Amino acid sequence: MRLRLLDLLACPSCRHFPLQLHIFEEAREDVKVPGNPPLCELYCAYKGGEVSKVGETPCDECVKRDIITGLLACTSCGAWYPIIDSIPRMLPPGHPLRSDKQYRKALEKHADKMPEELRSKVLD
Ligand SMILES: [Zn+2]
Ligand SMILES: [Zn+2]
Repeated sequence: MRLRLLDLLACPSCRHFPLQLHIFEEAREDVKVPGNPPLCELYCAYKGGEVSKVGETPCDECVKRDIITGLLACTSCGAWYPIIDSIPRMLPPGHPLRSDKQYRKALEKHADKMPEELRSKVLD
């Protein structure tokens, strides 16, 4: 997923916004950004803050950076959502189609990059 998506995603479980992003693998693509920057309206993941605080400077990095493997964490309800093969898996905890076992398998090789608190939640 592109960094840009952080400006649009809320926690499916409790609606908290923004989600906290942990990047394990990423790629960068020099795509041409259409229209006039700034692009992020509420929250800019590249600048790491609310647009009202970090200012409206151009942030086409948010479109160019692609998160291949990572974790989205909700600081309000504690839910976590993996990003695997560039796709954020946004099923809330307890959802019948959510496969924590499969998520664990995809994320365990990045255990050293996870903050301790998240590591015990995701991998144990
Ligand atoms: Zn941005
Ligand atoms: Zn939440």
